Amino acid sequence: MASMMQPQIILLKEGTDTSQGRAQVVSNINACTAVADTVRTTLGPRGMDKLIHDDKGGVTISNDGATIMRLLDIVHPAAKILVDIAKSQDSEVGDGTTTVVLLAAEFLKEAKPYVEDGVHPHSLIRSYRTAGNMAIQRVKELAVSIEGKSLEEKKSLLAKCAATTLSSKLIGGEKEFFASMVVDAVLAIGNDDRLNLIGIKKVPGGTMRDSFLVNGVAFKKTFSYAGFEQQPKKFLNPKILLLNIELELKSEKENAEIRLSDPLQYQSIVDAEWNIIYDKLDKCVKSGAKIVLSRLAIGDLATQYFADRDIFCAGRVTEEDLQRVAAATGGMVQTSVNNVIDEVLGSCEVFEEKQVGNERFNIFSGCPSGQTATIVLRGGADQFIEEAERSLHDAIMIVRRALKNSTVVPGGGAIDMEISKYLRQHARTIAGKSQFFVNSFAKALEVIPRQLCDNAGFDATDVLNKLRQKHASGEGANYGVDINTGGITDSFANFVWEPAVVKINAINAATEASCLILSVDETVKNPKSESAQGEAAAGAMAGRGGGAMRGRGGRGMRRR
Ligand code: ADP
Ligand code: MG
Repeated sequence: MASMMQPQIILLKEGTDTSQGRAQVVSNINACTAVADTVRTTLGPRGMDKLIHDDKGGVTISNDGATIMRLLDIVHPAAKILVDIAKSQDSEVGDGTTTVVLLAAEFLKEAKPYVEDGVHPHSLIRSYRTAGNMAIQRVKELAVSIEGKSLEEKKSLLAKCAATTLSSKLIGGEKEFFASMVVDAVLAIGNDDRLNLIGIKKVPGGTMRDSFLVNGVAFKKTFSYAGFEQQPKKFLNPKILLLNIELELKSEKENAEIRLSDPLQYQSIVDAEWNIIYDKLDKCVKSGAKIVLSRLAIGDLATQYFADRDIFCAGRVTEEDLQRVAAATGGMVQTSVNNVIDEVLGSCEVFEEKQVGNERFNIFSGCPSGQTATIVLRGGADQFIEEAERSLHDAIMIVRRALKNSTVVPGGGAIDMEISKYLRQHARTIAGKSQFFVNSFAKALEVIPRQLCDNAGFDATDVLNKLRQKHASGEGANYGVDINTGGITDSFANFVWEPAVVKINAINAATEASCLILSVDETVKNPKSESAQGEAAAGAMAGRGGGAMRGRGGRGMRRR
C-alpha cells in the first residue's frame, strides 16, 4: 500500500521522447544502411554520379562521397556519424570517402542479425575492435614501399596513384593527362604543408585537354581603371611590389567637414590630398618595382601614373592569390610604402598577362622559390569544372600522402579480399561466439569488390567466388576486380594503386563508427530540440532534392 502513496517521479520534461533497447540499435543500423545506399552506386571507375539540387537552386554533380554526404543534409542523429567519418576521411587523406561509409554500414549490417537475436552489442564491439586492429596491421604488412627510387621513377609511381583516384571521376577519361599534372604540381610545392600553394583556377570553355599547369602563380585579371591599356603586359625578370594599401584619391574634401576662415585655404586642403597620393606613388616607383599588386583598390589616378612610367599594376587581388604570389616570388606584403627595401620585393622570370578562353590571366612563372603551382582548369559546363576541381583535390591529396608515407596497396578490392581472407583464417582459431563476429567483419570487407562489380554491371557472386578462390590459393594476394572485362586481374601489375593510408584510415574510421553506433541504445529527444529541428526541417524541405532522405533517415523509420 505504501508504494501507492509515493508521488510519481518525473525525470524528463513532458513531451520528451525516448526510445531504447535493442529496437533502437536496430533502427540506427537501418538508418545507416539507408545513408550508405545513397552513395553505394558511386564507388569505383564505373560508379555513377549524383546530382544534388539545393534549396537555392544550385546544382552539384559529384562522385565524391564526402561532397554528397555533406550536401544531403542528413538529420538522423546516428546516421550523422557516417557523415562525420566521410568528412574526416576527406580532410585526413582526401580519398576513400565512399569506401569508409560503405564499410561502416556493412559492418553494421553484418551485426544486425546478431543484435536482433539478443547478442549484447558489447560482445560485438570487442570482436570488431580486435578485427579492425588486425586488419590494419595486415594492411601495413602487405603495403609495398616506393621509397628509394629515382625522381623519374617516383614520378611515374605517384602518377599511378593519382590515376587510380581519378579513374572513378568524371575526368577519368583523361586521367593520365591530369595525373601527371597533379604530380608535377605536388612536387613543385615540395614539403610545404600549405595545400593552398597549389591554386586551381576554373575557366569555363574549351576542352579538358586545354587545362594547363603554371609553374608559379596565375590569377584572373582584376578590375582595372582607365590607363590600364597603356601599361606593358609582359616583363622579364621584373621586381614585384606587394601591398596591402589603397592607392586611390578619396576626395576627402567632399566627405570631411572642415572649417575655414580664409577661402584661399581651401585649395591647400585639396592639394594636401593630392600630395599625399603622389608621394605614395612616387615611392612605389622609386622602389624599382615593375609590377605593383595590392589587396585593396588601385584607382584611376594611380593606374595612369604607373602607365606613364611603364609599370604594371593590379588592385583588389584576393588575399589567397597575393599570399601565393608572395610565397612564389619571395616578396613580402607591405602595409606602407615608406622604406620599401629591396629585400621585400619579389621577382620572377616572366610575368605576362595572357588570354585564357574568355578571360585574361596574370601569370607569374619561373618563380625563384618555386613553391607554388597553379592548375588552370578548362571545360564545358560549370558543374563539370566544379567536379573536376574536387577530383583534382582528391588526387592532389593522394599524391601528397603517397609522397609522405611512400607505401601503396593494390586497389580494385584486392587488398580488401586479402584482409578478409586473413581474418577468416584467424577466426577459425577462435573459440566461442567471437568467431562469428570476426567472420562477419571479414565478410563485410568484401563489400568493396562486390560493389565495384555491381556498379560495373558484372555478376558480383561469380567474380567474388573467383577472387576468394584466388586469394585462398595463397598466390593471388594482389588480385582484384578487372573493371574492363568483368573477370579478375592482378591489380598491382595493372597499376591500380592506392596509398596504404587510405585503407588504414578507412578501416580504422569505419570500425570506430560502427562500434560507436552499436554502443548507443537510447536516443533522448527533448521537446525543445525537437521543435527547433522540426522548423529547420520544414524550411529545408521546401524545394530540396534531398527531402526524400529526410523521410528515410527520419526517426520513425522502420525499414528492413
Ligand atoms: P572513394 O570515394 O572511396 O575513393 P571511388 O569512387 O574513388 O571511391 O572508388 C575507389 C575504389 O575504386 C577503390 O576501391 C579503388 O581500388 C577502385 N578502383 C579505382 N580504379 C580502379 C580500376 N582501374 N580498376 C579497379 N578498381 C579501381
Ligand atoms: Mg576515390
